[in-house]
Amino acid sequence: MSNQLITGIHHITALASDPQKNLDFYAGILGLRLVKKTINFDAPDVYHLYYGNETGAPGTILTFFPYPTLAKGRKGKGQVAVTSFSIPETSLEYWMKRLTKFNIKYNAPDTRYSKESFIYFEDPDGLGIELVANKEDFRPGSTYGQIPLEHSVKGFYGVTLAADGYEKTAGLLTAQMDHQLIAEKDNRFRYSASGKPGDFVDIICSPDSLRGLGGSGTIHHIAFATADDSSQLKAREKLVAAGFNPTLVLDREYFHSIYFREPGGVLFEIATVPPGFSVDEEPDHLGESLKLPAWYEPKRYEIENVLQPIQLNKEKFED
Ligand code: ZN
Repeated sequence: MSNQLITGIHHITALASDPQKNLDFYAGILGLRLVKKTINFDAPDVYHLYYGNETGAPGTILTFFPYPTLAKGRKGKGQVAVTSFSIPETSLEYWMKRLTKFNIKYNAPDTRYSKESFIYFEDPDGLGIELVANKEDFRPGSTYGQIPLEHSVKGFYGVTLAADGYEKTAGLLTAQMDHQLIAEKDNRFRYSASGKPGDFVDIICSPDSLRGLGGSGTIHHIAFATADDSSQLKAREKLVAAGFNPTLVLDREYFHSIYFREPGGVLFEIATVPPGFSVDEEPDHLGESLKLPAWYEPKRYEIENVLQPIQLNKEKFED
């Protein structure tokens, strides 16, 4: 709906350790496109790696801050527990074979809401990932050589937040962020701004679990999409009026962002759809060179010297 300020998920950002292992897993094994290689604007000695579909469209972008020596985090409540990717309905077998080939252990397939089958596994740092086979996702896949197009990842399916209780987070999503409850079963409640795969936000109530601790293998924040700068300011006013404490607008080069802590403890961001990833690189060459925002360019030499070089060897990840 055009009067919505929040339209769905924009990107998800996680913490990792080794950047080469991260690249091998997401671009090599899962076949996502590295759409941007830049630095953490708040810690320029650390990469910021963006993976997504061909253009890095909202709803497909998973990003990482790989701190080479970062200790592992602890899974628990107050965190995004699982990041789910959408695959075609008939592709689960293909992916189980592919994960086995690369020695990735996965849990036995399971079903949810009697319409989606999924497998759960973890990335090299322990980040929880699902591949969800479903027939409701009409986005085209995209492929860069290793994965046949008919089995390729289409983007996110959604995220799962582990919460103490769901009411406060749900209240924020529905009253201030244009989400609606679209499914519920047992302790799992599903919200969405668009109702479509890519934008599902599941909250599971897990009051008896420990609070999560940040570290590698945990999600740093989840960003929701807004159309432009003007809708972002309106969304911000709405949050302030409801007692939330969002930051001022920050320039993230590829989008503009505000951040605030939701009542369950997860860091939320609201990011504009423009300008996107082709603002500083041609669409055919996304992710190929280290991009720095203008204010860091004078320090390029020092920055390149401390970053560990990374390179994807596609042949290692053929079927
Ligand atoms: Zn972000």
